[in-house]
Amino acid sequence: MPTPDPTTRIEALLATMTLEEKIGQMTLVSAGQAVTGPGGPVDYLQAVRTGRVGTVSNLWGPERTREVQRIALEETRLGIPLLFVMDVIHGHRTIFPLPLAEVGAFDPDLWERTARVAAAEAAADGLAMTYAPMLDVARDPRWGRIAESPGEDPWLAARFAEAKVRGFQGADLAAADSLAATAKHLAAYGAVTAGRDYAPVDVSERSLHEIYLPPFRAAVAAGVAAIMPAFHNLAGVPMSANAAVLRDVVRGRWSFEGVIVSDYGAIAELVVHGVAEDLAEAAALALRAGIDIDLMGNAYARGLPGALERGRVTIADVDAAVRRVLALKAALGLFDDPCRRGHGLTSERLAAHRALAREIAQRAIVLLTNRDGALPLSPDGGRIAVIGPLADAREDMLGPWAAGGRPEEMVTILEGLRAAFPAREVAHAPGVEIDGDETSGIPAALDLARAADVVVLCLGEARAMSGEAASRARPTLPGRQAELAKAALDLGKPVVVTLSSGRPLMAPWLFERADAVLATCFLGSEAGNAVGDVLCGRHNPTARLPVSWPVDIGQIPIFYAQRPTGRPADPAEHYTSKYLDLPVDPLFSFGHGLSYTRFAYRGLRAYPEEVRPGETIVVEVEVANEGAVAGEETVFLFLRDPVASIGRPLLELKGVAKIALAPGARGAVRLTLSADDLAFLGPDLMPRLEPGVFEIHVGPSAARRSLLETTVRLVADERSVDAARPSPA
Ligand code: BGC
Repeated sequence: MPTPDPTTRIEALLATMTLEEKIGQMTLVSAGQAVTGPGGPVDYLQAVRTGRVGTVSNLWGPERTREVQRIALEETRLGIPLLFVMDVIHGHRTIFPLPLAEVGAFDPDLWERTARVAAAEAAADGLAMTYAPMLDVARDPRWGRIAESPGEDPWLAARFAEAKVRGFQGADLAAADSLAATAKHLAAYGAVTAGRDYAPVDVSERSLHEIYLPPFRAAVAAGVAAIMPAFHNLAGVPMSANAAVLRDVVRGRWSFEGVIVSDYGAIAELVVHGVAEDLAEAAALALRAGIDIDLMGNAYARGLPGALERGRVTIADVDAAVRRVLALKAALGLFDDPCRRGHGLTSERLAAHRALAREIAQRAIVLLTNRDGALPLSPDGGRIAVIGPLADAREDMLGPWAAGGRPEEMVTILEGLRAAFPAREVAHAPGVEIDGDETSGIPAALDLARAADVVVLCLGEARAMSGEAASRARPTLPGRQAELAKAALDLGKPVVVTLSSGRPLMAPWLFERADAVLATCFLGSEAGNAVGDVLCGRHNPTARLPVSWPVDIGQIPIFYAQRPTGRPADPAEHYTSKYLDLPVDPLFSFGHGLSYTRFAYRGLRAYPEEVRPGETIVVEVEVANEGAVAGEETVFLFLRDPVASIGRPLLELKGVAKIALAPGARGAVRLTLSADDLAFLGPDLMPRLEPGVFEIHVGPSAARRSLLETTVRLVADERSVDAARPSPA
């Protein structure tokens, strides 16, 4: 018998399915681990056996997935294969830097390669889908999930989205090493009130369409298989019931035909949100908004039969959702060969993955300060005192989403430093714990530091202090670490600080007093080796901040792409937009990151000087390495539309390029823009091009003083014309 085509197979199945079996395909249960909401573990095996579940979360490993798949195939009436899914956020067995750190590499090729490896490892463990990439633009370091995010910029987040979708899904979703990707959490979750996780969001329609939706739009354009709406209430409507965004924008305007999977228990939570009286109403709202799969809420199972009886949904609505779920299973090749994934990995492959983990971890470390060339450290010399609770914190190197990562396989910073400095004594004392009030270890740590040539202070957060449900109203150094650090700084020795954290941490005094500070975030499996590579100079830092780093909590939210005010900050004018007690600028701008060498920019030009819709603008600048070592520079291209019918942001990122230069060498960097990139959403939120002069700013970060400027003129026949391309969102 020839294999039926997917549509015929799906329609034939649908015709024989009972309502309970249909709802089963729309139900996702967690096999136990990583429970991120109320309610205990469910008897997932019983649910599989009785056909009441179509997708299982958090179950992995070749044998386990194969056995559970066998139950679905052989013991259920229809034998529909299961879909195994997990949060493969920054690596599976090999752990890469957390997304906020990985984004700082500003390298789509690397982003794609790490996703490809994560997909291969997860698929080797029987998984067919991941709840990633997370695409929430985030501008508030109090929010713990900033760690999982691509940072503050929509253009950057969109490039990250495309790379991750390509990496996870590969060229063929049915391939044995591909995963279906899930763009999450739609939309504007990063704007939760006061940075408190799960809190409501109230952003304007303009911000929604200009800032928060574009990364999701990019993921859809890249062919993402699934989308997950967020938990929150968006301007009155919880995302799990938000038909205006899910149905009208995502399914309607963007023509998204993939699966929409709820967040954990989020459909049932519509009752708690106060927009549904009971589970039947909650299920009806979610289904009508376009959600196909209920993740752990059991709301579809308990609510849909009642919703059908009440006429709140139709069986056609149910069938449409089931069709999409079955189509995803077909696209993943599960009907043809349900066990095509789950064949394990050789140790050679795993070793190759660790090499990539080291490369991306090196490229994710941001050198924030480096006074008088304190770094790199000399390979010889006296003792290096490695002080602080993050030096030997193996499990913390996993970061907030461990997935299939194993703590025993993480390289600590201490181990990395010992390997990087074989000719020096590397001694360690934690001094204090990450959190808590115990200070009895400080004297011993200071003794060690006194007898050393240089102190490496390893400070930061525990891995559970960022990520989901890990908002911090005061994102500073936790516990008694500040006390330890100040005492160590008082010794007068050279002090280098590594900050392991899921967010920018506010400690202005530390940056003023330490000789060098590195943002090391949570770097994953090869964390310690990468830190060692940077501290000894084997790797010259190249990473840049994907978020502005505030001076203090009072500046939050802070981001570079602000709109103009009529009263820009002016220290000489009282009635201007500023603080009495803090500067208005961040401590470190978006894009900040030092190198062991120095780069100079000159000769910026953009041509042609006049462009018309559809034409290309070429932007060229010369970059020179004026230092003594080889290095790689990251070049940012920002746009500003100084006069438009809508006040446009002071700067908007439109391009990034990299150039590697030997000491003394210079090279030309060339970026291109389409004249259509000058479009923006007009007063009616529709894209438009308005003629006039546009500023082009190029340089090493969003700090205005670091940028060169030129202009181009857009010539268009009318005052405004429709952009050639569809709306950014
Ligand atoms: C998180 C999602 C995650 C899901 C499944 C939720 O609590 O918000 O990001 O994918 O759990 O683990």
